[in-house]
Amino acid sequence: MSAYDEKVWLARYAPGQPAEITVEFDNAVEMFRASVARSPEADAIRYFDGRITLRELDELTDAFAAGLADAGFGAGERVAIYAQNVPQFVIAQLGTWKAGGIAVSINPMNKERELEQLLTDSGATVLVALQSLYRDVAAKVVPNTGVRTVITTSELEYQTRNDERIFAGVERIPCAGTLDMAELLSRFRGQAPPRVSPGPDDVAFLTYTSGTTGPPKGAMTTHRNVVFNAQTYRDWIGIGPDDVVLGIAPLFHITGLVGHIAISLLAGAPLVLMYRLDPAVTIETVQAEQATFTVGSITVFIALMNAPNADKDALASLTKIYSGGAPIPPSTVTAFQDTFGHYIHNIYGLTETTSPSHAVPLGSEAPVDPASGALSVGVPIYNTVVRIVDDEGKDLPPGEIGELVTAGPQVVAGYWNKPEESAKALPDGALHTGDVGYMDAEGWFYIVDRKKDQINAGGYKVWPREVEDVLYEHDAVREAAVVGVPDEYRGETVKAFVSLRPGRSATPEELIAFAKERMAAYKYPRLVEILDDIPKTVTGKLLRRELRARS
Ligand code: AMP
Repeated sequence: MSAYDEKVWLARYAPGQPAEITVEFDNAVEMFRASVARSPEADAIRYFDGRITLRELDELTDAFAAGLADAGFGAGERVAIYAQNVPQFVIAQLGTWKAGGIAVSINPMNKERELEQLLTDSGATVLVALQSLYRDVAAKVVPNTGVRTVITTSELEYQTRNDERIFAGVERIPCAGTLDMAELLSRFRGQAPPRVSPGPDDVAFLTYTSGTTGPPKGAMTTHRNVVFNAQTYRDWIGIGPDDVVLGIAPLFHITGLVGHIAISLLAGAPLVLMYRLDPAVTIETVQAEQATFTVGSITVFIALMNAPNADKDALASLTKIYSGGAPIPPSTVTAFQDTFGHYIHNIYGLTETTSPSHAVPLGSEAPVDPASGALSVGVPIYNTVVRIVDDEGKDLPPGEIGELVTAGPQVVAGYWNKPEESAKALPDGALHTGDVGYMDAEGWFYIVDRKKDQINAGGYKVWPREVEDVLYEHDAVREAAVVGVPDEYRGETVKAFVSLRPGRSATPEELIAFAKERMAAYKYPRLVEILDDIPKTVTGKLLRRELRARS
């Protein structure tokens, strides 16, 4: 399986689980078609009162693929999807695969410069966007990119109940020069999709991440990666056709792509899409749909505890709960248990491991590291070999702290068009995670630190360089250094240290507003401190640790 087979001693598998499984399907389309064949009339997606069955989803995605082919789209081309959690996201993704294409998921919070960068980097030829995002953001940058076809759609499309709390102010917007998705789907309904069948090593999506170094890069997630970790959710965790998946994590992130879409398609379990995180509506939806499983980040669980309708029975059906993407303190798990009576299981992985590489088995409670107070992220899932290495790459025994290096069928093929970055992060195919931790004598893993500069704001990752680059565009800024500082709600938040050019002035508020205008809401610095000089090493490297320590 991997170069690390002989090192399996470092990975202990969950009791009752095999050490190895085989990947059942060559691609995610076949995985979905098996569910359609089994129970065509079962719900695939629920969105407010709207319902799409597996059969309908099959027809709609055939139509989308036929429409792409008609527009001249060929195998291997990229379709960028720029939308919140709406059914059209799933239709566009699955339809792209049926046309032999690669789906590129884009955070809907991204502003012009970020969107343009991702469209250019991925070389997307098709963009699927919500109408409001097209009007407000995408329309301005599409002409600068290689996008030939824009398909627009409204968040109101499949929503039959008018939930004022969520959709107040949302309107249907005419988007001249674009194809309307509803029209496209009805025009091509009934037409056969192109005859393509992606192989296991073909790329299914590009998922953008800052990784351990540098600006955002498209992780090349293959069909094998997707099918394998869908099987992980189904068999290792235990999600079946009787489950109802609460889709609260953003679909553009690997957690949503795999922990919501892929598992629903494989298990044939309905995916209940939450357009945005409104905790009161989420609780009502769990009750109305009897949702049983979800995976999200700590901010979701904190928000749910603070909802006006939170009480002991509020989430009675939601018994399978996983938290990933960011550390979750044991105190939050306990508080959630006190509020709702359910335990939150930790799950760990990266975009580069297609979501989970480790998880706490359902029904088990994770131990806590006595030294750091960190909750264990669980044990490795099957087929996964994890080493803990020192700075020289030497294996460390249990109990010793080092970097996690992960190998397995969920590790991505590399970064899109970035062979050097790929070789750095994935020498001989094993991922150097940039996360620092250890394995205890029982085989539980703990993450206690990070080697990478990445800031983790409640699961949203921020690369300091991106924020610094924006601050440098302000003409009063001489130097900028960005770090993560502790935050009660998000775990970490973004702080910038700035020095000013001689004779120039700028207030922290002004710099915050400047950055806010130019980048996604989770990235701009919430705090700015002006210093005479930014501490650096003699070679001019920023002393981020020192800056973090003084906050
Ligand atoms: P992403 O690529 O956005 O999925 O981010 C991956 C990073 O999130 C990892 O490298 C970790 O630093 C962090 N992370 C993910 N899951 C957990 C977890 N359960 N506990 C602590 N950190 C986590």
